[in-house]
Amino acid sequence: MATGSTTRSISDSVSRLRATFDSGVTRSLDWREAQIDGVIRFLEEHSGGLLDAMQSDLGRPRAEGWLADLAPTVVEAKYIKKHFRKWASPRRAKLPLVLLPGSARIIPEPLGVALIISPWNYPVNLVLEPLVAALAAGNVAACKPSELAPATSHLIATELPAYLDDGAIAFFEGGPEVSTELLEERFDHIFFTGSTHVGKIVMTAAAKHITPVVLELGGKSPVIVADDADIDVAASRIAWGKTLNAGQTCIAPDYVLVTPANRDALVDRIAATWTSFYGPSPMESADFARIVSEKHHQRLIGLLDGQTIAFGGDNDPAAKYLGPTMVIDPDLSSPLANEEIFGPILPIITVSGVDDAIRFVNERPKPLSLYVFSGRGDITERVIERTSSGGACINHVLFHFAPPELPFGGVGPSGMGRYHGKSGFDTYSNLKSVLKKPVAGEHTLTYPPFTERKRKLLRKLT
Ligand code: NAD
Repeated sequence: MATGSTTRSISDSVSRLRATFDSGVTRSLDWREAQIDGVIRFLEEHSGGLLDAMQSDLGRPRAEGWLADLAPTVVEAKYIKKHFRKWASPRRAKLPLVLLPGSARIIPEPLGVALIISPWNYPVNLVLEPLVAALAAGNVAACKPSELAPATSHLIATELPAYLDDGAIAFFEGGPEVSTELLEERFDHIFFTGSTHVGKIVMTAAAKHITPVVLELGGKSPVIVADDADIDVAASRIAWGKTLNAGQTCIAPDYVLVTPANRDALVDRIAATWTSFYGPSPMESADFARIVSEKHHQRLIGLLDGQTIAFGGDNDPAAKYLGPTMVIDPDLSSPLANEEIFGPILPIITVSGVDDAIRFVNERPKPLSLYVFSGRGDITERVIERTSSGGACINHVLFHFAPPELPFGGVGPSGMGRYHGKSGFDTYSNLKSVLKKPVAGEHTLTYPPFTERKRKLLRKLT
């Protein structure tokens, strides 16, 4: 089950990781850099194999696998390599007058043994980005990639350890039964990416040991198209974001809110964009991915039950294919309007204006992302200020995931905690506050007895 030089039980593997951490080897910044380099070399030397594996797991076009999975992982790893020594240095802090003389520092120290549980939809990025952050911050890690991307998970689990300190990493292939056994162990941090339902299971298990968690979950990310929006631009960007990886992207636009004035033009333009991307028969296109499993395919077809399809709907269960599809004004009590879609179905929902769209969003669980299209700054700022989401893009979709300097994560039911760049390093660090006083120069201001003079002085200084 554990993949490494030998097959060990889960608890033996976790003990081995803990022994490596306790040896102190991970404190060395050179050791950490060697691990980050190992991940970068693995990605470079196995890029062809990883793209093949993703194609076999997800029917994912190779160009898309590179663009949306491998390339951002390499960029993030290189960014962390460049900056992690600065982030690992003690950070100076100022002291108030009453505490002088003295000095203060915040020391980022590694947490220990990290557990990373990942989903199948971006099966390289969602394992390796948290892993690089964990290693850069001086931790060791157990990784449980997804059983639903078996070829990619197996390649990472069997090949990556050779690029790293074998004692600092363990991979566990398999499904929920493996996560369940792993979650019995005590970890110092758990990083879970996946569904809100399983996120609750992970958080409950973590509570047993008061283990801190990052939960990168899902939800329904809305798109608001204001009346003044450039409909051509909005349509092509929404169409792209919705069908990247056949809609199986946590931050994919889930549904669109638009006024009657723009609705039909938007629907026409999105349909035309999809045709320009994938031709009249997307099933024949080499650039359109498949649904990950029969179960998910059936679930998506079920979401279309009773809906009026305005575009697409063509599907082939044997090929796990569902074409880009639009539904106009679905029943708001239907599963399509309430569950995370996670597939190439785009509901278009009519609202009376931007304020109505804001109300619609705020009546529902806080999403992972929110997108707004408008050329007017007052409108985009109103939407950003009056809604809550993990992240947002103005006049585009998805791209806020990419820059290492933008912390990524959810809010409320779409998750908690942040990673990418320094935020990932800090997530995997105990930011230990240390205050130092000189031995000499004892002053008794804060000690009883509190005379009138001391009380006055304390009030002035504090
Ligand atoms: P999932 O929750 O079914 O599985 C995620 C991981 O948890 C897998 O490794 C799986 O083996 C494991 N798992 C499944 N059931 C478990 C259980 N009962 N106990 C313990 N572990 C269990 O999610 P998925 O289908 O792999 O991925 C899709 C979901 O992930 C969507 O909701 C999507 O929005 C979300 N997601 C979020 C992000 C993000 O960054 N926020 C990124 C990608 C996907």
